[in-house]
Amino acid sequence: MTSPRTYRALGLTLRRSPMREADLLSVMYTREYGKLELLARGAQRLTSKLMGHLEPLTLVRVSVARGRSMDHVTEAEVVDAFRAVKSGYEHAARGLYVAELIDGFSALSAANAELFDLAVQTLEVLGAVKDPDLALRYFDLQLLRLSGFMPELYICVECGEELEPDRHRFAIGAGGALCPECGPTDVVVRPLSLSALKLLRLLHRTDSVGALPELTVPPALEREMRETLTATLQYWLDRRVKSQEFLEIAKFA
Ligand SMILES: [Zn+2]
Repeated sequence: MTSPRTYRALGLTLRRSPMREADLLSVMYTREYGKLELLARGAQRLTSKLMGHLEPLTLVRVSVARGRSMDHVTEAEVVDAFRAVKSGYEHAARGLYVAELIDGFSALSAANAELFDLAVQTLEVLGAVKDPDLALRYFDLQLLRLSGFMPELYICVECGEELEPDRHRFAIGAGGALCPECGPTDVVVRPLSLSALKLLRLLHRTDSVGALPELTVPPALEREMRETLTATLQYWLDRRVKSQEFLEIAKFA
């Protein structure tokens, strides 16, 4: 049986790059098929509407035709342009952070509808919530969970004992929290405050980014959360998260 020559998908454009002859390559994370590399023929021409529709951080419904070497977009309809996210440097930097991590954690053509929903819901709330950084930390932790890298937060990863209040440490390479008695020598063990552990647990058990309670996270705790989660993401990604650095600069611009 041959597969149909065209298909439709709901996709979020993560990034795009110009190709020869006014074509555009769009890297899109779709709900139905996971990450796809799609060609948009003639999209760079002034008469083409595809250019605007395939802007990064835009949710589109696309019609795609299968090609011999690459599939190509035949139609695109904007579902959500996330205007609030694109309204300033800081918000845009947060949006690009979401796109970079989804890109980094998703292999080509591996569908993960929950991960897609997480990305879209995060972009929906980023421009609207009081504490967009807390929304990003929720995104970080749930991205780890949905990618199979959820750090252990309740028992010691070495001996399996339940953690006692404030008697714990954190080792990314070992897979999460450690009791004070265990200390594998081959991994970097870092301190983790009780407040940070509690906040990580709260992010873990909250059903959606929109359901996050309104919290006032003190700056020191915000930094600790960000550093812990960024270090964990970078460990599994095996590289730096460039947009995280850009975001820190944008905050003070
Ligand atoms: Zn232990």
